[in-house]
Amino acid sequence: MTKKVSLVVPCFNEEKTIPLFYAALQAVKPQLRGAELEYWFINDGSQDTTMAVLRDLQQKDPQQVHYISFSRNFGKEAALYAGLQATTGDYVAVMDADLQDPPEQLVDMLAGIEDEGYDVVGTRRIDRAGEPVIRSFFANTFYRFINKISSTPIKNGVRDFRLMTRQVVDAVLSMSEYNRFSKGILSWVGFNTKYLSYENRDRVAGKTSWSFWKLVRYSIDGIVDFSDAPLVLASFVGFASFLVSLMGIAFVIVRKIIYGGSVTGWASMVSVILMVGGLQLLCLGILGKYIGSIYLEAKKRPIYIIKEKK
Ligand code: UDP
Ligand code: MG
Repeated sequence: MTKKVSLVVPCFNEEKTIPLFYAALQAVKPQLRGAELEYWFINDGSQDTTMAVLRDLQQKDPQQVHYISFSRNFGKEAALYAGLQATTGDYVAVMDADLQDPPEQLVDMLAGIEDEGYDVVGTRRIDRAGEPVIRSFFANTFYRFINKISSTPIKNGVRDFRLMTRQVVDAVLSMSEYNRFSKGILSWVGFNTKYLSYENRDRVAGKTSWSFWKLVRYSIDGIVDFSDAPLVLASFVGFASFLVSLMGIAFVIVRKIIYGGSVTGWASMVSVILMVGGLQLLCLGILGKYIGSIYLEAKKRPIYIIKEKK
């Protein structure tokens, strides 16, 4: 029986890369053990001519090419969710449109699933060459930190690019949360996963849509979505400062008994008040971040809104 491989491709301003992507995949197709292909391009509110390019491609190859177009930009995570929901293949691959995910690796991925019995074959970066040093530093720090405080392992350098069996896709889809941190979700569902090594490569055209601050916000969301350690930290800090204040009180009483009254020391007093006030605000902020997430989940808003689908 011939198998079908579905490809989920989120596209945000990818007018230049989509035709190259399609050509590259068609070139790899003959090596995929005669599998059928099904493309799902998700236009995530692009502002360039991505939509026209997709319509054109769909008309040329209506058998294989499908697209979903969102009513605005909902983010890559939402695009992945919409794409996974639409797929009908036995195996599903998640790929970026910019060809940073080498299509040739699909051949090895397929072998990993069909011959070696894995449920998921993903890719993991072996170097961060070509990336700004500061960015690598923060990325490495983030991974070390989140793995300390989260029980869901989130491996450094694992990319979204992967091939999954239908069973895994259904598991991922069953996580219908609004705050979608894919790196966490894909790891949380478990299953036997194999990682192929991946050497960093540049996008073929266009430019990345991730600024440094976008990445910082993304990391914070990831921590909030997959760990409650910061909340514990707040109670811990509170308890520690309580202990310190006990020691302070003991000190003041002893000094009063030995030396009598004194008016000096107001500066240290003010610093302590400021410090405690600051810690309280920090903890409130952490609490607020979690409550904000709960608020968004509780509203049960749709993860994306479709304007056009074919
Ligand atoms: N993308 C998207 N919505 C967004 C941002 C990005 O669908 O809001 C897509 C983008 O078109 C690409 C993939 O996500 O196919 C990865 O984006 P990008 O190449 O900009 O990220 P990087 O590879 O630099 O991490
Ligand atoms: Mg990219």
